[in-house]
Amino acid sequence: MKVVRIPAGIYAANCYLVYSENDNKEGIVIDPGGDVDDITAQIENLGLSIKYIILTHGHGDHIAGINELKKYVDVPVAIHKDDEYLLKNGDENLSSMMPMGTVELSADILLDDGDEIAFGDITAKIIHTPGHTPGGISIKIGNNLFTGDTLFAGSIGRTDFPGSSFEKIMSSIKDKLLIYPDDTIVYPGHGPSSTIKREKASNPFLK
Ligand SMILES: [Zn+2]
Ligand SMILES: [Zn+2]
Repeated sequence: MKVVRIPAGIYAANCYLVYSENDNKEGIVIDPGGDVDDITAQIENLGLSIKYIILTHGHGDHIAGINELKKYVDVPVAIHKDDEYLLKNGDENLSSMMPMGTVELSADILLDDGDEIAFGDITAKIIHTPGHTPGGISIKIGNNLFTGDTLFAGSIGRTDFPGSSFEKIMSSIKDKLLIYPDDTIVYPGHGPSSTIKREKASNPFLK
């Protein structure tokens, strides 16, 4: 399994390509937040066969590139069912207040906690981690955890948005993410990667 990080869009949301090195290089795109030319160039250079676009949550900075990306890879878009309302409404997903303008779309797949999505020889497990948004998810693939705007290296997601909850994000992180082994790699929605060990030891929000 390989991971490529592409900071995308004006808020530098991390778009990730995750793909199998076997089985025709099948892969997924996580959170295409803009800079679609960069994303498609990587897909082309690596010769990937993209199967799904999976969204960690419905905020504008993570979804802004989808409509353009779908012209290049027309694959199903998956989001947790509790964030579907964000995708459909530019005011709710905050894109109407962002410089790139309103982004609205419909999901093809509504996810639930525990769902699995398979591509190539890889299985992605969906972990519902609400708090930053009601339907925020983390995506567990082997030893890797894609945490969206729930857990960052040295920080946690904002909870001052409508629908956010500080209590929920804290229990999501403690009960559903920090339970994984120390060497689990954390790939957040913004900024550099980390590990569960490092976040447990040094994230000021988790002491
Ligand atoms: Zn967000
Ligand atoms: Zn974000």
